[in-house]
Amino acid sequence: MDATTAKKRAKELQTILNQYNYEYHVLDNPSVPDSEYDMRLKELIGIEEQYPELKTPDSPTVRVGGAVLDAFQKVEHRTPMLSLANAFSEEDLLDFDRRVRQGIGDSFSYMCELKIDGLAVSLLYEEGLFTRGATRGDGYVGEDITANLKTIKSIPLKINKPLTFEVRGEAYMPKKSFNDLNAIRAENNEEAFANPRNAAAGSLRQLDPRIAAKRNLSVFLYSLADLGGTGVVTQSEGLDLLDDLGFKTNKERRTCADIHEVIEYVKGWTEKRPDLPYEIDGIVIKVNSLDQQEELGYTAKSPRWAIAYKFPAEEVVTKLLDIELSVGRTGVITPTAILSPVKVAGTTVSRASLHNEDLIREKDIKLYDYVVVKKAGDIIPEVVNVLVDRRTDEQQEFKMPTHCPACGSELVRLEEEVALRCINPKCPAQIREGLIHFVSRNAMNIDGMGEKVITQLFGENLIHDVADIYQLKHEQLIELERMGEKSVQKLLAAIEASKANSLERLLFGLGIRHVGSKAAKTLAQQFGSMDALAKAGMEELTAINEIGDKMADSVVTFFEQEEVGELLQELKNAGVNMEYKGPKPVSAEESDSIFAGKTVVLTGKLEILTRNEAKEKLEALGANVAGSVSKKTNLVIAGADAGSKLAKAQELGVEVWDEEKLVQELNK
Ligand code: NAD
Repeated sequence: MDATTAKKRAKELQTILNQYNYEYHVLDNPSVPDSEYDMRLKELIGIEEQYPELKTPDSPTVRVGGAVLDAFQKVEHRTPMLSLANAFSEEDLLDFDRRVRQGIGDSFSYMCELKIDGLAVSLLYEEGLFTRGATRGDGYVGEDITANLKTIKSIPLKINKPLTFEVRGEAYMPKKSFNDLNAIRAENNEEAFANPRNAAAGSLRQLDPRIAAKRNLSVFLYSLADLGGTGVVTQSEGLDLLDDLGFKTNKERRTCADIHEVIEYVKGWTEKRPDLPYEIDGIVIKVNSLDQQEELGYTAKSPRWAIAYKFPAEEVVTKLLDIELSVGRTGVITPTAILSPVKVAGTTVSRASLHNEDLIREKDIKLYDYVVVKKAGDIIPEVVNVLVDRRTDEQQEFKMPTHCPACGSELVRLEEEVALRCINPKCPAQIREGLIHFVSRNAMNIDGMGEKVITQLFGENLIHDVADIYQLKHEQLIELERMGEKSVQKLLAAIEASKANSLERLLFGLGIRHVGSKAAKTLAQQFGSMDALAKAGMEELTAINEIGDKMADSVVTFFEQEEVGELLQELKNAGVNMEYKGPKPVSAEESDSIFAGKTVVLTGKLEILTRNEAKEKLEALGANVAGSVSKKTNLVIAGADAGSKLAKAQELGVEVWDEEKLVQELNK
């Protein structure tokens, strides 16, 4: 970058970062994800390193972000409350370690602590009494929020020694309080808080302490600002002293002998962090010895003896390049955002479903917009919102088509549905999706016949419906791309084997509307054969507990169609089994087992039984096996490495067994 461009860009970045800082620290309402702020800050640091003359004394790279609201009394900190330098990778951590060793040699240890995602606070104790609490502000002057902090139960108003000192920590809102708060806000039509950090900061910067009192905040203390006379010589001793004085500290901390142990600790928490009842956004790594900390010293913004490792961003900004449309098995048209590839929570994301037209309107998504992307439930990519401020004249309105992109027939919007649908039963896209569904794992489970093979067979006109799969010949398959003799043999064997599947797989595979795999199993168990089910009427169907009117109606309509009769006949002729082969269901009344009528949840890794075996055995004894823990759960079976479901069970006081106990009881 040449000097003129660098100057211009630095100015731009300073302006934009100051704006972000204001929104985040003063308004508690950021407009962009942290990753975006961090990326811009990194860019500015890079430019200022190349052109040091651009580093003004008020640059966001040298100033702690916050400012002080006039509404509060100002508090001057006795020692500045600084920020921390960031590390985003293992390499950054190794660089930090190198710098530390250059400063103090090789003989030292680190203290690792969870980086609680909240708001830094300073608490002043005089003669053992809590007298004043403040925000960090700009690092030198903060806001007096004593009244609000006094409402936090984990802050002792009096400690067991008449000492005078300042202690620092992070005030935060536990995940549960955050979810409860947002639920209440939704009921009252109030805007939801974006995350627990903003909620905590927003609560503590209220003028009326009654609001903070209702917000269930907590605090972890992590340092004593002046340790004179306490005899403490390391950070870890400092934390132990805080414990002794009756403060709440975080117990997951660990001393590490070297940076490699630190990296292990960081990796461990990257995995385990979703299980914590509060949010953390990284790990803080500090040189343990206080003397060595002094030796390393400070920059204007942060200590040289500590660094904050930030976890891979969970929300990032990227550009929406296109909106692609696909036609599903039931004719639903689904728009998908094609994104400029970005790393989200550690993996690259380039597509995200936009679900339907309403969602595009609600979120006001336009082609070529900059959007915030996250992974919902840490797996499925989702467009969170649009950065409206970043629009230029490039963006374009997106219009849903009026005709099916696959077959060209006019699309309809059925009553009470948000989706647009192609209702042409001969639409090739729907047929192809139906075939893919038929062979899928939970349906007929035909190994080796994935999406690619189906697409080829369908494209070559070798299959038109699911019955054709059973007519496929060796000579047809061997002609397909990337199909060798071995794969053909395997595929034919898998097709043959699928004929013996129990009825529920076939039922699910046929894709009757509203009949998912669980309902297919119930229907198969209750009726025993395809013929019996085909003859069943509404009354018979709705007499079954789990079958509602909508599903019953869909089943009856399905079997009334002439083509369905023909298709089933063809399948029968090919030798496809039409009978239920599993264990007979046992109703809670019929069973005398202790599991009868109980709702059981399986979680973690089972080692003696497979999940499916355990489920089948429990159901055969009259239990209902559910997927998530709620107040209705009677029993949780926790295998190895059980996570959030186990935690929930413990929170709700639900009985928990290990697998061994389950097996013992099943064998009784
Ligand atoms: P920081 O959050 O990166 O690190 C410093 C802070 O970590 C301390 O002040 C303290 O509050 C906290 N902390 C938590 N646990 C700790 C522990 N055990 N020991 C020591 N400190 C601990 O730095 P910052 O200056 O407070 O804020 C920058 C952060 O705010 C970045 O994450 C940045 O992405 C975000 N930010 C976002 C926007 C936005 O618009 N989205 C704007 C500004 C800042």
